Amino acid sequence: MKKRVFSGTRATGRLHLGNYLGAVKGYLELQNNPEYEAIYMVMDLHAITTPYDKAKLTENTRNVIMDYLACGLDPEKSIITAQSLIPEHTYLANILSSEITVARMQHLPTFKEKVKQYPDHVTVALLNYPVLMAADILLYKAGLVPVGIDQEPHLEVAREIARKMNEKYGMDFPEPKRFATSGEYVSSLTGEGKMSKSVEGSYISLTDSLDEIKKKLSGAPTDSGQGEKVPEKGGVANLLQLVELFEGEGKRKEYETKYLGEGIRYGELKTELAEAIYKELEPIQKQRKLYEDDPSLVDRIIKEGAQKARKIALETINEVKSKMGLINYE
Ligand code: ADP
Repeated sequence: MKKRVFSGTRATGRLHLGNYLGAVKGYLELQNNPEYEAIYMVMDLHAITTPYDKAKLTENTRNVIMDYLACGLDPEKSIITAQSLIPEHTYLANILSSEITVARMQHLPTFKEKVKQYPDHVTVALLNYPVLMAADILLYKAGLVPVGIDQEPHLEVAREIARKMNEKYGMDFPEPKRFATSGEYVSSLTGEGKMSKSVEGSYISLTDSLDEIKKKLSGAPTDSGQGEKVPEKGGVANLLQLVELFEGEGKRKEYETKYLGEGIRYGELKTELAEAIYKELEPIQKQRKLYEDDPSLVDRIIKEGAQKARKIALETINEVKSKMGLINYE
């Protein structure tokens, strides 16, 4: 049997450079490795754990799928679908929530961050977010998860739950490991924290035009362009990270030398960087247009993906039910 890979992105908007470099590039690498069977979803049930616009959720779900397909995810090679179409995710999440304490969930850094961000929306679903993620992965017995470094605490929870299920009930869940890419942490354009859909002004979307990219980069904070030490944090450091990711390490070194010498002219750096980013995004945008023009194809891919995923999901659920003593006639 092939080893399985699982990953997903929340349906909170279009994909940005952080999602692309930290996650989707890893999805692509594993999809194209014949040793693995890959399952990639849009996590719409995770999207509703924070305040959201119900009029836009389905559209956001389809948008993420179109971004996936435009980046090169291929329904012939991977299972591509939406989480909420497979009810077994929530079923397993409910079962797994018996295996982990409230205290453990409350101490997760990701939970604390969300509590700060949405103090009036600290729901049970938010607390249970990592358990649902554990269920997403374990339902397919996936051992490898291509996600950004921000997800490591959640993977630790999934490993803990897998160990417990194996010890207590004799399941054979692999302890899922993160598959890292070189863009595992893409910083925010604001100079603080990570690039994120939920922070306005922090991100560049895969669908942004050259002008939009230029405009967003022009707002990124800088300094005088010169100093005795190249900054390791903040706006300049973040710009240099993007230079390295899109123009290579050599270019980054060039700018670092300039910083310590005659000085960087940020206007030029930003224009060059915008062009390098757009060069990578342009073919993705062309490809996306094909899917935008054929909505029924997108829906077919989502539906067929759900059927394939559900077959695997049901096998795991039946096994879990039998091993845990839940009544089962399957
Ligand atoms: P967001 O934080 O923008 O809402 P998600 O939580 O939906 O993104 O994350 C989707 C995937 O993209 C995850 O694998 C996550 O680790 C990755 N990811 C998100 N932001 C970044 C980033 N700034 N750098 C690297 N990877 C990221």
